[in-house]
Amino acid sequence: MSRNGEDRVNQNGENRVNPIRSPRGVHDILPPETARWRQFEAAFAAFCDRAGYGELRLPMFEELGVFLRLGQDTEVVSKEMYDFVDKDGKHMALRPEMTASAARAFIQHSPTVPWKVYYHGPQFRCERPQAGRYRQFSQAGIEVFGVSDPYLDVEVIALGWEFLKSLGLAKMSLHINSLGDTDDRAAYGEQLRNYFAERADELSEASRKTAETNPLRVLDSKREQDQDIIAEAPSCLDFLSDAASERSDAASKRFEVVCEGLRQLEIDFQINPKLVRGLDYYTHTAFEYVSEAFEGAQNALGGGGHYSGLVEALGGKDSPGVGFALGIDRIFLACDSEGVFAFDPSGIDIFVVDIVGGQEALVLTHQLRMAGISCDRAWGNRSMKAQMKLADRSGAEFALIVGSDEQEAGAVGFRDLRSDQFVKQENIPRDEIVDELRKRLAPQTQ
Ligand code: AMP
Repeated sequence: MSRNGEDRVNQNGENRVNPIRSPRGVHDILPPETARWRQFEAAFAAFCDRAGYGELRLPMFEELGVFLRLGQDTEVVSKEMYDFVDKDGKHMALRPEMTASAARAFIQHSPTVPWKVYYHGPQFRCERPQAGRYRQFSQAGIEVFGVSDPYLDVEVIALGWEFLKSLGLAKMSLHINSLGDTDDRAAYGEQLRNYFAERADELSEASRKTAETNPLRVLDSKREQDQDIIAEAPSCLDFLSDAASERSDAASKRFEVVCEGLRQLEIDFQINPKLVRGLDYYTHTAFEYVSEAFEGAQNALGGGGHYSGLVEALGGKDSPGVGFALGIDRIFLACDSEGVFAFDPSGIDIFVVDIVGGQEALVLTHQLRMAGISCDRAWGNRSMKAQMKLADRSGAEFALIVGSDEQEAGAVGFRDLRSDQFVKQENIPRDEIVDELRKRLAPQTQ
């Protein structure tokens, strides 16, 4: 019996060891699909750079306490964290999201505000895996720390929305809500707690428990049994402090500014008073980008909101923040469903076919690569026909042929692989090949 898999005996009586597979809920990304990820990340980076955001690269793990500050009643923290005690005896956790780490970095480095940053990378949550829900998944997001301005909320919402549109996605809707300020949110939470307590018998068991500790989270329940009760629950918009409270920062007024800002940018949205998001520190604006390209609970492509209190909870001077996180894996599912953002594997330019033993291919490919020309070759002394097949499959534009005739003539054969017709091979002198290829490839790279 192997340590890592069960032994099996096949039909021939041979022992077969079950191969090791990746853990449940995680997946490998193989070439050429990796190209899609790179294209996504490059597009996101360019988009954020253009808006004056800077890239943030954060550790994959933090001290557990960083994430506990997100709120111990949130499922991400209470149930789904990959936490472990390291060899120094410190309790650590793989990051389940980036906002807490970004807030930790903001405190640690005291940058000038507003601190406008973006990131992308893997996150880890020990959830029940299903389509669109994984244990390792990737997010791309932005955060702005240090100012609270309703127009900044609009900027952030608009950036996420326009970025998704720039991928070609069209079947999407934007949902927004306001949770009010800390007092409004607390008053609403209290009202909800009472409401759910009255209807506790009808709630699912899981939601009944959540209702006691974090009633707002029940609104997020996807369980069928809870849906009618949620639909009839009081609306948080009725709890927003209004202008009559004579506060200039009245939540209802702030929310109206956000809505008006979105209208000015001609971004359609739906107000969804049941939209509450995971983080305990969300106040005022909350939003979500929802795909209408596929059914099911996993149709949120991303979301975010305004928060206050998180930086303070992590030991810093209180600073508000606003941000979003987009789920890249899920965005690709939506792209596939809409038939957009198909990846474009960046092929090589040249394929070297060597039928005189392979040494010339070794030297030639090295020389071309050092000259900045992308190229590949076949291995294992294969026939001309087999190598030409590989050349076609490689996506290369041109093949260079090295045979005994060419060698005798001090030349390299050159064939255009893009033409369907049989095109006669042209011979190019061996010592001019690099310059000649540069010339022929140049117009395509312009
Ligand atoms: P959250 O940080 O929970 O607000 O999630 C933001 C976005 O990340 C969601 O809208 C999803 O698109 C994506 N996401 C969250 N959890 C997962 C997961 N387990 N697997 C794949 N994508 C996820």
